[in-house]
Amino acid sequence: MAAMSGKIVQNVFIAQFYQQNRQFGTQYQRDSCAPYMRTLPHLNGGKLARTGISSMQVRDLSKYQSGFVNLLTVNCNAASSATTVPSLDKVDFLKLQNGSDIRGVAVAGVEGEPVSLTEPVTEAIAAAFAAWLLDKKKADTSRQLRVSIGHDSRISAQLLQDAVSRGIASAGLDVVQYGLASTPAMFNSTLTKDDAFLCPVDGAIMITASHLPYNRNGFKFFTNAGGLGKTDIKDILERAANIYSIFLAEGYSVKKASASLKKVDYMSVYTSDLVKAVRKAAGNIEKPLDGFHIIVDAGNGAGGFFAAKVLEHLGAITAGSQFLEPDGMFPNHIPNPEDKAAMKAITQAVLDNKADLGIIFDTDVDRSAAVDSTGRELNRNRLIALMSAIVLEEHPGTTIVTDSVTSDGLTSFIEKKLGGKHHRFKRGYKNVIDEAIRLNSVGKESHLAIETSGHGALKENHWLDDGAYLMVKLLNKLASARASGRGDGSKVLTDLVDSLEEPAFAVELRLKINQSHPDLKGGSFRDYGEVVLKHLDNHIASDPKLQKAPVNYEGVRVSGYGGWFLLRLSLHDPVLPLNIETPSHEDAVKLGLEVAAAVKEFQALDTSALDKFVQP
Ligand SMILES: [Zn+2]
Repeated sequence: MAAMSGKIVQNVFIAQFYQQNRQFGTQYQRDSCAPYMRTLPHLNGGKLARTGISSMQVRDLSKYQSGFVNLLTVNCNAASSATTVPSLDKVDFLKLQNGSDIRGVAVAGVEGEPVSLTEPVTEAIAAAFAAWLLDKKKADTSRQLRVSIGHDSRISAQLLQDAVSRGIASAGLDVVQYGLASTPAMFNSTLTKDDAFLCPVDGAIMITASHLPYNRNGFKFFTNAGGLGKTDIKDILERAANIYSIFLAEGYSVKKASASLKKVDYMSVYTSDLVKAVRKAAGNIEKPLDGFHIIVDAGNGAGGFFAAKVLEHLGAITAGSQFLEPDGMFPNHIPNPEDKAAMKAITQAVLDNKADLGIIFDTDVDRSAAVDSTGRELNRNRLIALMSAIVLEEHPGTTIVTDSVTSDGLTSFIEKKLGGKHHRFKRGYKNVIDEAIRLNSVGKESHLAIETSGHGALKENHWLDDGAYLMVKLLNKLASARASGRGDGSKVLTDLVDSLEEPAFAVELRLKINQSHPDLKGGSFRDYGEVVLKHLDNHIASDPKLQKAPVNYEGVRVSGYGGWFLLRLSLHDPVLPLNIETPSHEDAVKLGLEVAAAVKEFQALDTSALDKFVQP
């Protein structure tokens, strides 16, 4: 399949696809996805030999989504376990929910982390999504529904992609595989109108676990209304549990389906849209970034496309870009713009190459950050400040919605310097985005929803949290500044956040709740955490040195000693994270002591991190 005639590069029937998969057993499947495989030059065994390709080739194929080579090589890495799984384990599907995502363990080998996203579990989840989608969409379309599937660089990507494909096809829906893709591109595929690329699709599934370790994986789901929320995910998991119980009762078997499987190079559509956006912002110049030296660090995730397919098309030099090659073992650093080692790596690359700008993405490219030419990191509060400055130039007075751990300095920057409004909401990118949408619906204009994690969504981009699009907004600024003769390089960005006040000291401490402690009295960690917060709230009210934040949507946020702290309950884990930002370490200790005094009687709370911090 060398030539890509038109845009659809493969078109085969699922039934046929199943037949071929049956030739390969689960043992090979396990081997091909094992983490230790990278150190093994050869995997032996007849099953692999039948494919006629080496283990390393398989690995390369899985990394690059096979370059759409041919059906056999794609499928050899996707053995169906139809006839080779003797019995299925019972599964608690609801435990796979992580807010508005599904997350689990997909690769064996890490102690204490058994595989939860097996092929049958994955197939059940995909079939459940298909059923959910049929319920939602059947009234408004006459044609067969279709679902796009993409994945990041994880080593379990192929295995899960094939199980997802079977699940979708088993419900009679068409499957369109994109291969290596970014999460935002998947949402975009529900909006693109282009028959040649089989767009729009009715639903999209991204196989990713963002920045989590190599053995994890998971799913994000989209329709043209955006990412699915918590309630929908719960619904899908309940449906999946029912489908799985049929597998348990009747045996897990592969059924022939009449739906078709197609492969489409959708990332070329998505990246050309990004290129067009920058060209347009610069006044329709073909190469608005001509001569700019911009370095990309994709952390071996899915974001490597940004260098060759976006920046270079716009005229930028990308020499010195690093870790663009997908590698699901993430050998260089965690692809995470909040991670210190990751930010250090991109900063060093910018300085070593004397580049104008550095850009870093998380694994699935829904988060990003930048580094200016002097090595100054533009992530977390600084990225929010920068994006706020850009958006408030375009929409004066608008409301910027952020997560709860943003700094006080950011609030005064947005409100006093930029003339906007800062609506500090809860943690969780979906919460932040949904709040911005809600504000607009009640007549309070908002154009930007952004988290310190680097998730950011703009109204102009369908409220899609897209790390690549955030960076496009920065590029627009560089390009338009040059076009209007207002200086060169990243200084135009740095100058925008010049007056952002930043705390001299910032720390996050995590107080764990021991769920098996008798102090919980059989209740949930959530209930216990709420009681801790209530108690802290009362404690603060009686202390004249401390002031509660007048408006607060999550946890207990308090000002004092020239800084602030926030104690909140984690969205998913039995943990109370404590954030403190102050002018000095000494002031932070004073705030820490206040919290320590208020929570000391809670026996099930592990305060060791806090105790250590406040020790003289
Ligand atoms: Zn992500």
